[in-house]
Amino acid sequence: KANRTFHPENTVIEVGNQTIGGSQLAIIAGPCSVESKEQIINIAQEVKAAGAGFLRGGAFKPRTSPYSFQGMQEEGLELLQLARQATGLPIVTEIMSIKQLEKYSECIDIIQIGARNMQNFDLLKAAGQINKPILLKRGQSATIEELLMSAEYIMAGGNENVILCERGIRTFETYTRNTLDLSAVLAIKKLSHLPVIVDPSHAAGIWWMVEALSKAAVAVGADGLIIEVHQDPSNAKCDGQQSIKPERFASLMKSLREIARLE
Ligand code: PEP
Ligand code: MN
Repeated sequence: KANRTFHPENTVIEVGNQTIGGSQLAIIAGPCSVESKEQIINIAQEVKAAGAGFLRGGAFKPRTSPYSFQGMQEEGLELLQLARQATGLPIVTEIMSIKQLEKYSECIDIIQIGARNMQNFDLLKAAGQINKPILLKRGQSATIEELLMSAEYIMAGGNENVILCERGIRTFETYTRNTLDLSAVLAIKKLSHLPVIVDPSHAAGIWWMVEALSKAAVAVGADGLIIEVHQDPSNAKCDGQQSIKPERFASLMKSLREIARLE
C-alpha cells in the first residue's frame, strides 16, 4: 500500500486547513517536551507568528535513562489542548503504547510514533485501526525498506494517513547525535507516495546545524520539517542542546520561504 508502483500519485494528508505532501511545505515546530502552561502557549504563539503550521510538544517522552524527565504525561496533553485553543495550531505528539493510543488518540491531531517504537508491530497494528494521521519516525538503525514495511503495518489495518520522518541514523560518526540521511528522502519519494518530512534537530543534536540542515532537506524535496524550538534552550528539560530559539526559527522560516513552496 505504501508502494508507488501501485499508487503513482503523491498522498496528500489534510489536517485542518493544512496539508502534508501537497504543494505546501509542512512545518511542525515546538519544544521537545511540554514543560508548563506558560511555556507551551508562549512557544505555540511564537512559532505560529513565524509561520509554522503545526505545534509539536512531547507529553510522553521515550528517554534513554529511566531517571531522566519522562514528560508531563496526561497533564502535558491537557496543556497541548490549551495551546491548540489559543493558537488554532494542530498538535503533534508522541504516544508510546497501545494503551495511550486508545486513551488519547482523539485529542491529538497527528500521532507521532517515535524512532524507538518504529518496529513495535503491535503498536503499529493498533495505529492502523484508527483514522488519525500517524507521523512515523525512522528507527535509529532502520533501513529505508524497514521504515516502509512499518508504514505498511499501519496501512494494512486501513489507516493510510502515514507521514514518514527521516531523523538521522546511527553511524560510526560521533560528532553529531545521528547522521542525517538526506538521500533517504530521495529514495523514499521514489519508492513511495507517502509524504516525507525531516527532523534536523534529532539528526544533528546540535542547534547551530538545524537551519542549514533544514534548508538542505527542503532543497532535496522533503515535504516538511519537524524542528525543536525552545525559549530558553539552556534550561530545557529535554534536548536543549539541539533546540533553536524562536527568533532563529523565525529567520529560518524567512529563508525557507525563499527556497520553497511557502505562500
Ligand atoms: C522527539 O521527537 O522528541 C523524539 C524523541 O524523536 P525520535 O523518536 O526521533 O528520537
Ligand atoms: Mn527531542
